Amino acid sequence: MSEPAKNSPIIIVGAGTWGISTALHLARRGYTAIKVLDPYPVPSPISAGNDVNKILELADSPETNYVSTTLAKAAVSGWNDPVFQPYFHETGAIIAATSVGAREYITSGGGMTAANGWIPLSTAQEFRDTMPEGVLTGDFPGWKGWWKKDGAGWVAARKSMESAAREAARLGVTFISGLAGRVTELVYAEDEDGAVRGVRTADGHVHMGVKTILCAGAAAESLLDMKDQLRPTAWTLAHIKMTPEEVKLYKDLPVLFNVERGFFMEPDEDKHELKICDEHPGYCNWVMEGGKLRSKPFAKEQIPIESERRVRQFLRETMPYLANRPFSFARICWCADTPDRKFLIGTHPEHKDLVLGVGGSGHGFAHIPSVGSFIADAMEMKLDPKLAEAFRWRPATAVGRDWGALQDRYGPDGSNRVMNFQDINEDGWTTIGLDQTRV
Ligand SMILES: Cc1cc2nc3c(=O)[nH]c(=O)nc-3n(C[C@H](O)[C@H](O)[C@H](O)COP(=O)(O)OP(=O)(O)OC[C@H]3O[C@@H](n4cnc5c(N)ncnc54)[C@H](O)[C@@H]3O)c2cc1C
Repeated sequence: MSEPAKNSPIIIVGAGTWGISTALHLARRGYTAIKVLDPYPVPSPISAGNDVNKILELADSPETNYVSTTLAKAAVSGWNDPVFQPYFHETGAIIAATSVGAREYITSGGGMTAANGWIPLSTAQEFRDTMPEGVLTGDFPGWKGWWKKDGAGWVAARKSMESAAREAARLGVTFISGLAGRVTELVYAEDEDGAVRGVRTADGHVHMGVKTILCAGAAAESLLDMKDQLRPTAWTLAHIKMTPEEVKLYKDLPVLFNVERGFFMEPDEDKHELKICDEHPGYCNWVMEGGKLRSKPFAKEQIPIESERRVRQFLRETMPYLANRPFSFARICWCADTPDRKFLIGTHPEHKDLVLGVGGSGHGFAHIPSVGSFIADAMEMKLDPKLAEAFRWRPATAVGRDWGALQDRYGPDGSNRVMNFQDINEDGWTTIGLDQTRV
């Protein structure tokens, strides 16, 4: 039998972006006994999706092939679903770069050409003219880029996660948080080699499931040997408080994304904060564990001061009047890269009844409306064979993995390297909201 009975217990580990999407799709397929376990209630403060907004890149994928086209089509249709549609803003996007290498990449590797509807931007004035007067006032030194008015934009991330979780709960999904939701280990069968029967949580409870679906994002490695297929990698976010006049001026802006500087979109409507993401090849946190080098995620609502400096440089180049405004919030945010940055979705070949939904690789949020349908297909053993092949458990691709690989990313400051949080000393972090005089 390929599909479990609709009333059989299903455990989802992680109520983040993909776990919630999976719960929603399974509930819509009629499963009636779904439990989603997470140390935190939705939205988890450590979920990569717990963020005011994310870029939605749906058109002109660098490799327009069956897999990327199928994913993009499913996402487009998913954003029209009433659960997600209010959070979708097709405002267009500007993709830019500064160094010669990154400029070549966005043009040759990024699929951005005039034939695809992208408008080239070369001068500071051309960049400024993409937004209402008074928003972009910077000199854009060395910037070259492309602007597309449709087929891209942004989504209100936290709100779409919360909306999906509300709908899943309405359809009967049980969300469990706290110690009772913190999964400490997978529970294996005594009578069948390697088969997974459920999970144990920090309160000592065992939750049995006919299928266990691992959607723990960057934390997946703490529960399963991922055979080097996931590299937990973090990026840094900073918020700036905007005035009510600025919020009005910034409404419906296209996304401005320099692939080696950072990006922003309109301020969030509730707190009136502008979020800037400091874009670069990412930070890892390298430690030796069990004789192996591991990037170990940790939570922090501060960012390295070197990252603050880069965010302010980005602002000086684009909106200099904001460059010295204090940050109201900042945090590090973890995702997990596979070696080819394709998702890892499928059943585990050695652990029967374990399903994987991990490997967002920095672009997994845009798929929140639809990725759960692919994970549900994998659970029901009916995932489209071409997707199953692309997303399969593939440790052979991670043998001798180059942990410093840039994976098509650039920066910071032209150095083109993955950074290491171990290089940031205690005083090298911002102190937003903390008593600055503390010792
Ligand atoms: C700074 C940043 C910017 C990004 N920008 C974009 C963008 O613009 N566009 C885009 O499409 N994508 C973007 N992404 C990528 C996207 O956010 C991720 O690919 C996506 O959110 C991954 O979803 P996930 O469910 O795998 O992980 P998460 O959303 O992180 O969920 C993992 C969940 O597992 C839970 N968990 C952890 N440990 C346990 C445990 N022991 N037991 C139970 N649960 C546990 C966590 O609490 C969390 O809720 C960005 C990522 C980052 C970090």
